[in-house]
Amino acid sequence: MLSPIRTRQGIVIREIPELVLDPTRKPASNIAFISHPHSDHHPSNIKRGTQLIASRSTFNIIAYKLKTVLSFLETLETDRYSLIQVPSGHMHGSTSAVIRDNETGETLIYSGDINDRERFGLKGYESRKADVLIIEATYGHPRYLFPDTEELMFQAYETIENLKRIGRRVLIHTYSLGKAQILLKSPIAELIDGIHPQIHTYNRLFSPEDFIPPEIPVKSTIDEQGVFLVPKKPSRNNWSNVANVYFTGWALNSYRTKSYSFPLSDHADFHGLLEIVKKTDPEKVYTIYGYHREFAKELRKWGYNAESLEINQSKIDSF
Ligand SMILES: [Zn+2]
Repeated sequence: MLSPIRTRQGIVIREIPELVLDPTRKPASNIAFISHPHSDHHPSNIKRGTQLIASRSTFNIIAYKLKTVLSFLETLETDRYSLIQVPSGHMHGSTSAVIRDNETGETLIYSGDINDRERFGLKGYESRKADVLIIEATYGHPRYLFPDTEELMFQAYETIENLKRIGRRVLIHTYSLGKAQILLKSPIAELIDGIHPQIHTYNRLFSPEDFIPPEIPVKSTIDEQGVFLVPKKPSRNNWSNVANVYFTGWALNSYRTKSYSFPLSDHADFHGLLEIVKKTDPEKVYTIYGYHREFAKELRKWGYNAESLEINQSKIDSF
């Protein structure tokens, strides 16, 4: 059976050593699959000319971030195996890899980051059957169950609209890649008066088939009143009248008194992860990231052959 290993350089399947999945260090090989452009899923540099299997949006953003000329591949077909991409629902343009071993007919899915819930036009991951599943487990603990997205956003909308009405300077802190685009497609977008230049720059790198940004003014300075979409860690400021708003799954943990946090996540919650595993119906499950050990344990309780994909100290070159 196709067997993955995780090293400090990324994920490799023993039977297909030339391909690296979500490399975290400069890959030795010339072919890499990158599921999405969050910095924990790609290296900080990569060889010029590397063949990158990714969506067009991910490819554009990676080439921009790493300032390198890369070669774009949508799918890969060799004598030994094939790789196709399917949307993973984590952010606009994010994908999971479906790998088929031509000799045995076995399939392996590497999820990357994944979300089975639709959010404002971004479709959730649609499960498909596979023999081996490598699934992320960011929220792979039973305590993480997210509320209904529509209800949550209704509350968030009311809160932000109210803060705006009473003249507050509302800063919506968000990841410039991923969450920002989701919020810009949500009803909240109509309350936003300005977006940070960094978010604007990323918006323009998405392929139009994945994301078309709404027309909202770009603001490099924040006005005294209004609603502004800003990167998660903006430079320190000592503005008065600020109301800070956050959208993150970790809001389930926090009870901040000086800010407004809403648990809108780009990852599947515990129940969503379980559903994906059930529908994939794999013979073997590997869990990775976040609560990977806890989630593997939960899956074993359900009768799955599951284990956490631990980092192996060896280098990819040794396989
Ligand atoms: Zn991510």
